[in-house]
Amino acid sequence: MCGLFGLLVGSFLNVVIWRVPRKESVVRPPSHCPACDAEVRPYDNVPVVSWLVLRGRCRDCGMHIPARYPLVELACGVLWAALGARFAGSWALPAFLVLGAGLLALSVIDLEHYLLPNRIVYPLGIACAALLAAAALADGDPSRWVRALLGAAVAFAAFFVIHVVAPRGMGFGDVRLSFVLGLALGWLGWGFVALGLFLGFLYGAVVGAGLIATRIKSRREHVPFGPFLAAGTLTAALWGQAILDWYLHR
Ligand SMILES: [Zn+2]
Repeated sequence: MCGLFGLLVGSFLNVVIWRVPRKESVVRPPSHCPACDAEVRPYDNVPVVSWLVLRGRCRDCGMHIPARYPLVELACGVLWAALGARFAGSWALPAFLVLGAGLLALSVIDLEHYLLPNRIVYPLGIACAALLAAAALADGDPSRWVRALLGAAVAFAAFFVIHVVAPRGMGFGDVRLSFVLGLALGWLGWGFVALGLFLGFLYGAVVGAGLIATRIKSRREHVPFGPFLAAGTLTAALWGQAILDWYLHR
C-alpha cells in the first residue's frame, strides 16, 4: 500500500524537483511539457507506466523525457514500501514517509543544482517535528519527542562547527539539513543519531574517493553532500537496529 502511494508521491516529487530550484509554484499550473507547453493528460501521468508506454517522449512534440522521471517514481515507491514495512504499526510512520519523500527530492536537486532549497528543508523540518510530536502524544511518551529535538540540536551544532572549520566541504544547506536528520534519528535513539550521521560521512568519503580515483571528478570539483547524508539517515532508519546490534555485540 505504501509502495503504491509512494509511486504517486514520486510523480509529485518530479514536479517539486523541476520547479522549486526554478522558483516556480508546485501547485500551478498543472504539469506540462517544458518544450511544447502541452498539458500532461491524466492517462499519461501514470507513474513509471506512462514513461514506458510513451517510450520516454512527449506525446505532443516528441521531446525526450529523461529516465530520471520514472526512476524517481520507482525510487519513491521502493522507499515508501521499505519504510511502510519498517514502521508498520508505529505512529511515527507518517513522519518517516514524509522524511523519505523530502530527502529523495532534496538529493536529486542537490545532485543537479548543488543546492538544498530552504523552500523544501524548512517545511520538511516543520512537518517532521509536528508529525513526531503527534506520534509522541499518541504513544503517550513525550520524552521521545524531546530526544528528537535534542538530536536535531546536537546534529545542527556538530555540522555548524564542521561548516565553520571547513566551509568548502560542507555548505550551510547541509547544516540546515542536519537539523531534520538529527530530529528523525533522535526519535529513534542516540545510537541512531551517531550511526546515521556517521554513515553519511562514510558514503560521502567512499564515493568521493571513488570519483577521484576513476578521474570522473577532480580533487577540486565540488561533490554534493546532501544525497550521502540522506542515504546515511535512511539506512539508519531502515536497518539501524540490526547494524547497531551487530556492532555492539560482535
Ligand atoms: Zn512536448
